[in-house]
Amino acid sequence: MNSRRNFLQKIGLSALALQLAPVAGWANNKPQISTTPYDGPMLRVAIMGIGTYGNIVARALQASTKAKLVGVISGSPNKVKDWQAKYGIPDKNVYNYDNFEDIKNNPDIDAIYVIVPNFLHKPYVLRAAKTGKFVISEKPLGLNAKEGQEMVDGCKKAGVKLLVGYRMHFEPKNLEIIGMRNAGDFGKIKYFTGNGGFHIGDPTQWRLDKAKSGGGSMMDIGIYAVNGARYMVGEDPIWVTAQEPPKSDPVKFKEGIDETIMFQFGFPSGATASCLSTYAMNNVDRFLLIGERGYAELNPANGYGPLKGRTNRGDLKAVSPAMQQTAQMDEFAEILFNGKVPVVPADGEEAVKDLKIIDAVYAAAKTGKRIPLSL
Ligand code: NDP
Repeated sequence: MNSRRNFLQKIGLSALALQLAPVAGWANNKPQISTTPYDGPMLRVAIMGIGTYGNIVARALQASTKAKLVGVISGSPNKVKDWQAKYGIPDKNVYNYDNFEDIKNNPDIDAIYVIVPNFLHKPYVLRAAKTGKFVISEKPLGLNAKEGQEMVDGCKKAGVKLLVGYRMHFEPKNLEIIGMRNAGDFGKIKYFTGNGGFHIGDPTQWRLDKAKSGGGSMMDIGIYAVNGARYMVGEDPIWVTAQEPPKSDPVKFKEGIDETIMFQFGFPSGATASCLSTYAMNNVDRFLLIGERGYAELNPANGYGPLKGRTNRGDLKAVSPAMQQTAQMDEFAEILFNGKVPVVPADGEEAVKDLKIIDAVYAAAKTGKRIPLSL
């Protein structure tokens, strides 16, 4: 019950902050959290990996009032040239995978944001930690809970703060639902469902190679239902069951790469969750939270937005930001520089909990057994 109490304390504290400031700040689709001007330090970020998501975060940083893109770490000189021209990155802030530890001597970079395939998160996060700069890793933190814990320990040992790119933790409609739940609007929470997925293409991509991804849809998209279940219900699960139906394409979805997986959680209060993660169905993106007196629904729930949702009282009112990643980076600056406690934590320890749950989901699907959890 300790972890539940800690979780509720965090949520309770931050819910107060939520009432005082952020949601109204999203009016007019402006990607800012607060209406009061920010006069704190700018979080100066070097992005590692100019891939699909690295490009999205770079674009989002252009609208941030608290963080900015100042550097890049890449193995692709041509892409680097484009970024330097597009984002005004000076030569002195350009690194590759061999020399990026030299960032420790660069006073113009505060944080390294690791946005590379999953199997490289651990080695690069641990090397980034040696620079003494803040480290941000994309999700999933590691290939499994053991790796994630090693990353948390490594960052702790190096004395650096580690955050994970959980953009949904800063998304206003998700936060509005949490605020309503805390206010008792839905009554005692009884049930959550999170369904997420898309039809994955190219069979040769790293996401379909277990050594590089750590698993299939669960590592990529199912993770949203895993941490969504935790922050929507407001508790950590104490047991897990899971089922993996037969694969439609055993060549594309090899051993260890789940195509579709269903998983269920039990929570200390007696609430339960039932979720679906898939690489074989398009436009699956829904959260539903049900209490004794009401419900909240997001559909879409985890896309880049704008999200849509309603409760038994009507449509959700919080306005989606132009880019969720802008909101995330603004909040990361507050967390790293000002010690802000977010409504939903996005630190390494939280990400390890998600990986412990995912490890248990895979074990439950394999054995057919109910796996107890103590997070
Ligand atoms: P991509 O394959 O599009 O890009 C990955 C980039 O990593 C490459 O372009 C490359 O950049 C760099 N890289 C370094 N080493 C390798 C290697 N051995 N093989 C392949 N690429 C390498 O991946 P995504 O951008 O889609 O995903 C990156 C990470 O971001 C993943 O962990 C993923 O889970 C996460 N992600 C998170 C999302 C979110 O909403 N939070 C959404 C999408 C992804 P370069 O050429 O510059 O070296």
